[in-house]
Amino acid sequence: MAESNYGHRDKKGHYKPDERISYPAVFVWPLKPIGALKWVFSIPGYFVPWNLFYVLVGLLSWFYFSPPLEAYAQLNIKVFLIAFARNSVLVALYFGAFHYRLYTQRAQDLEFKFNPRWPSEKSKQFMFGNQNIDNIFLTFASGVTIWTGFEIGILWLAANEYVSVINVQENWIYFISMILLVHLWRDLHFYLIHRLVHSEPLYAMAHRIHHKNINPGPWSGLAMHPIEHLFYFSCALLYLLFPFHPAFVMVTLVHAGLSPAPGHAGFDRIRTSKNRTFSSDSYAHYLHHKYFECNYADGILPLDKWFGTFHDGSGEAQERLRHRLKEKNKKAIS
Ligand SMILES: [Zn+2]
Ligand SMILES: [Zn+2]
Repeated sequence: MAESNYGHRDKKGHYKPDERISYPAVFVWPLKPIGALKWVFSIPGYFVPWNLFYVLVGLLSWFYFSPPLEAYAQLNIKVFLIAFARNSVLVALYFGAFHYRLYTQRAQDLEFKFNPRWPSEKSKQFMFGNQNIDNIFLTFASGVTIWTGFEIGILWLAANEYVSVINVQENWIYFISMILLVHLWRDLHFYLIHRLVHSEPLYAMAHRIHHKNINPGPWSGLAMHPIEHLFYFSCALLYLLFPFHPAFVMVTLVHAGLSPAPGHAGFDRIRTSKNRTFSSDSYAHYLHHKYFECNYADGILPLDKWFGTFHDGSGEAQERLRHRLKEKNKKAIS
């Protein structure tokens, strides 16, 4: 179906989906157990498609594309390079696929693109004067390097038995439960660190680099200052507090490392054939890039709703945001 079946464009040509952003019926009161269960197993739902994909890539990364745990016991460059190469290939393939299809081939032109302009290829704001090159440089030089650093550091602790590693066969229920909870933990962690980096001095020092991408593309997803990458990938540290398996860390880091690609696609829906499109689930975070002070969470936990910063894409939400910012400015002046 065409763009006009899902949304409309305003006078300036910006695309707005007609459907309001909403949360699944999980964290609601009174409880809706049937609605919650339906959402967990529906398509799209909690697992399918995104969550399941990241879980599978994380498990494959650990069981087929990593050295054995013992190899992590020494901090040697060879293990780092193997992990760095694997993570780089994942990022290049995944981010590259979204970028190639949407921005190089321009396979659907501006259809479903939120911002009617293409990202600028000449802008003094960005390193090398180019948003895309700036984004790719930060992604690999800082993002994938720090991601790999967390992997090596945490698995070094496990390999040296500073934490005890569980056996999957003996603890398979625990293993599966922890893997399935990764997505929830990532949502909570992202919200917390995101609020933190929006406060000074972290915003000026670090997070403003990510926010230069007002018209984001897939490569904007991991385009962050190294300080922000340190906070962002620290989600993997949680597993040191629990009975541990390396796959927990791999799935969490893969989730953190890859999910920003569709989340910053810049397109509400992605066309796969003449009659088929799928949602990139990126409108809430697109609004965060556009208006800064809303939608700090990016996922399924209704934290913005609870803390009064939710923007569902409607005119009323826009009015609430305007009012909130006006009050904030008044307070700052007085
Ligand atoms: Zn972002
Ligand atoms: Zn932000």
